[in-house]
Amino acid sequence: MAKVVVIGGGAGGMLCGIIAARHGHTVSIYEKNDKLGRKLFITGKGRCNLTNASENPEEFLDQMTSNKKFLYRSFYQFSNQDVMDFFVELGVPLKTERGGRVFPVSDRAGDIIGALEKELIRQKVSIYRNREVRSLWIEEEYLKGIVLKDGKKKGADRVVVATGGISYPATGSTGDGYQFAMEAGHKIISPSPALVPLETKEEFVKELQGLSLKNVRITVKEGKKELYKGFGEMLFTHYGISGPLVLSASSFLTKRKGKAPIKILIDLKPALTLEQLDARIQRDFKKNGKKQFKNGVMELFPSKLIPIMIKLSGIESERKICNITREQRLHFAREIKNMTLEIKGTRGFQEAIVTKGGVCVKEINPSTMESKLVKGLYFIGEVLDIDALTGGYNLQIAWSSAFAAGSHL
Ligand SMILES: Cc1cc2nc3c(=O)[nH]c(=O)nc-3n(C[C@H](O)[C@H](O)[C@H](O)COP(=O)(O)OP(=O)(O)OC[C@H]3O[C@@H](n4cnc5c(N)ncnc54)[C@H](O)[C@@H]3O)c2cc1C
Repeated sequence: MAKVVVIGGGAGGMLCGIIAARHGHTVSIYEKNDKLGRKLFITGKGRCNLTNASENPEEFLDQMTSNKKFLYRSFYQFSNQDVMDFFVELGVPLKTERGGRVFPVSDRAGDIIGALEKELIRQKVSIYRNREVRSLWIEEEYLKGIVLKDGKKKGADRVVVATGGISYPATGSTGDGYQFAMEAGHKIISPSPALVPLETKEEFVKELQGLSLKNVRITVKEGKKELYKGFGEMLFTHYGISGPLVLSASSFLTKRKGKAPIKILIDLKPALTLEQLDARIQRDFKKNGKKQFKNGVMELFPSKLIPIMIKLSGIESERKICNITREQRLHFAREIKNMTLEIKGTRGFQEAIVTKGGVCVKEINPSTMESKLVKGLYFIGEVLDIDALTGGYNLQIAWSSAFAAGSHL
């Protein structure tokens, strides 16, 4: 049986430690924080959306926004159903909410961490907290173990890198795993923030700060190329836009190929066609013909949005509605269906739910997570170049890859 070192006591590292120990290996976890699972603790707003109950594996895997194929083999070894069974067996009852999101019944992420810690102890895994790993210990291309921050070397037959990505660095994931991978000769796909709010060029978003729009459709375009289309809820902030729909859209920005500006088109009335919307505006205009434009569109939008939409329409706010031309009215309707913002960039890693990019998966065996370059070296979880939309899918990446590694060490 092998002597196994796991670097990082997050979601992936803890599960991998348990599975490896159940296979009879001698396992040690080195975690740089004073606690295990610091990021796990804040997942799902502290409730931990640990997976998704989707019954169709293809639909599940379609939620991956990069390298979905890489996950197939590990997902089928430890699927979303297996994750649920695993935690229920550890004594954590689960519930499923809107969109198949799975949470502990207690609504406490701490219960997931507690269950994992208890099982690690039961499996006699040695846990070293406040122990930062500085580098891998590789001699003449052979993996010998790890080197701690204080320079001490720890020998191991197998090393699992479970250090996470580089987003929310305060939780401990500061990208160290990328450096370890490079030491071993691995290629890193340049990390970028994903599931992250977006900054817009338009300054007027400041005036909309705090406004949440439900049931809107957005389309993200680079020139004529469509990068993303989605329906749901978004939020204006002082720097741009956020909310579930925008976070999802952010994961598709790296699909951009050229240098054309990225624009986001917001359809404020997706339930109506342009013709239906125009008919609706005509009805409102008829009713309010004697009013000024700014006072005749109250029923169309939330109040915060009215001055902005009036500005975008190009119609003088004080013009009498009965004097608005057909062209002006149609232009106004088109603006409502295509309110356009130009994306300046994403917010930083500090605010990103996940990291896109990471260890290039072409150099990793998808069934075992072992490096194809260095024998005995494994990579699991967010350190890999694989990420997904929100809904419990990112933790599933950590669980599935951790199980695959833990079972094949
Ligand atoms: C605010 C927020 C909410 C989220 N909510 C959800 C959700 O509800 N559902 C979902 O599916 N996903 C969610 N995610 C994403 C999910 O948390 C991550 O994808 C997942 O935690 C990745 O697991 P991991 O084990 O790869 O890395 P992590 O959980 O980041 O763990 C890595 C661990 O390695 C340790 N480490 C790093 N470097 C070293 C080193 N040199 N030496 C020793 N230890 C080291 C770190 O301290 C850390 O504990 C959320 C993320 C954030 C930021």
